[in-house]
Amino acid sequence: MSNVNHHPDISSLKAYAAGEMAGGPAMLLAAHLEYCEHCRNQMRQLEQSLSQTMEEPCEEPDLLEQMLSQSLAQLPVVDSLPEPEPLPHNEIQLEDKRFVLPQVIARQVAKLGGWNRMPGQLHQARLNIDGSHLHFIHIGKASQVPPHTHKGREFTLVLHGGFSDDAGDYGVGDFICLDESHSHQPRTDEHEDCLVITALEGPLQFTSGLSRMLNPLSQLFFR
Ligand SMILES: [Zn+2]
Repeated sequence: MSNVNHHPDISSLKAYAAGEMAGGPAMLLAAHLEYCEHCRNQMRQLEQSLSQTMEEPCEEPDLLEQMLSQSLAQLPVVDSLPEPEPLPHNEIQLEDKRFVLPQVIARQVAKLGGWNRMPGQLHQARLNIDGSHLHFIHIGKASQVPPHTHKGREFTLVLHGGFSDDAGDYGVGDFICLDESHSHQPRTDEHEDCLVITALEGPLQFTSGLSRMLNPLSQLFFR
């Protein structure tokens, strides 16, 4: 059922399970879990092993506690991850196009700023969440983002359609984490546009030709 091919690495999953991941990337990872059964299963196992580590008793429990813990142990394991539920405002609109959002992002959509038109077939809108910024980036059909690298990590989650770069093809639900060692040029084909949401730890650095002149524009993606 799931076509998700690109997943967070195990260190990101562990950081998320331990509550050590920062706001924007954590929200993208939570949204990825809505698409990805594989990572939900991994997260369940990580949370279970974390909770077992925290439950190490340091003293002999008294009888009441023993009875209580035995009866709790007989309860089925409850899935602690959010279950899908219908939301009235789970879409965003760009011109005549509407896009359904993962629930964890849809809950924040009241904080969405307006869309900015960028050079080419690009639009960008900022989502402000508790001191961190996420950016929706829409790439029209047969278009491309100027080649760029990153200062710090760039987390991306595909929400609609898909894009390609030299490293591969990405579709809905795919989670991509790139850093300053990666330079890439996301592009769409002539059949489908693409909506992604990104969290950046630092500004984009456009790397080639005329697009280097766009570097001041990277502030639009990160401010
Ligand atoms: Zn996954």
